[in-house]
Amino acid sequence: MNSTEREVSGFGNVVLETRDLKKIYLQGKVEVHALRGVNLTIEKGELISILGPSGSGKSTLLNMIGALDRPTSGTILIEGQDIGLMNKNQLAEVRQHVGFVFQYFNLIGRLSAVQNVELPMTVKGLSASERKQKAIEFMNRVGLGDRITHRPSELSGGQQQRVAIARALAQDPKFMLMDEPTGNIDTRTRDEILKLIKQLNEEHNVTVVIITHDAMVAKFTNRTVYIVDGLLYSTQEEAAEAEQNTRIAVDERANGREEVPAE
Ligand code: ADP
Ligand code: MG
Repeated sequence: MNSTEREVSGFGNVVLETRDLKKIYLQGKVEVHALRGVNLTIEKGELISILGPSGSGKSTLLNMIGALDRPTSGTILIEGQDIGLMNKNQLAEVRQHVGFVFQYFNLIGRLSAVQNVELPMTVKGLSASERKQKAIEFMNRVGLGDRITHRPSELSGGQQQRVAIARALAQDPKFMLMDEPTGNIDTRTRDEILKLIKQLNEEHNVTVVIITHDAMVAKFTNRTVYIVDGLLYSTQEEAAEAEQNTRIAVDERANGREEVPAE
């Protein structure tokens, strides 16, 4: 990309950027600091994983960058647009172009596979036959051209996840957001799904963000960032050190509590 294109598009190659993103949940009177200042930049065409243990803030981060929930503070830019400044309708529009893929597939059971894939296209002003034709194309792309009329219950877990990926493609996504996409399928199928994701990224330039606690999944991606206790780290060493410090802090807090005399 030359500098003129960069000026015209305004956001260059960056599809997603967060600046000092924080999220505090209130649990009764207790504040839970789920994100404590996340800075993340993702360029178009990246295949990136966000790797971290349970409770580190992965799903919270996904909810923020997918415009499903608002941060407590900080900025999220999607293709240069600050989504914090958007109203409900504008946010809904943004969300329509995020290709969500979840651990439990979230397909609609009473619809056939191809009808599930057609769903996101109903808002795009395509005719019924155009929608169907495109949905079949996406089913072919994920290797399920021979399963279009099957219901989700008639498909294996891996096949259901392929349908969910086809549905995400139908959203014409600015980027795909996958939360533990292989968390609910066996190891062999996991590798097939990951190969498919890699192929979509390489051949169709789909930007993919995979959120996972599984280092084997992260290995499939081209870049990994590590999340520990609501903060991102770019190397495993930094993440390990942060985890160690978190553990010490938790221990100290626990010890401190023990030393408080009972009243
Ligand atoms: P992960 O997806 O990495 O397991 P989450 O983002 O789900 O982590 O959670 C991060 C932290 O925020 C955890 O301590 C969790 O208990 C807390 N948390 C998540 N959602 C809520 C909520 N709606 N209300 C209160 N606390 C929450
Ligand atoms: Mg989670």
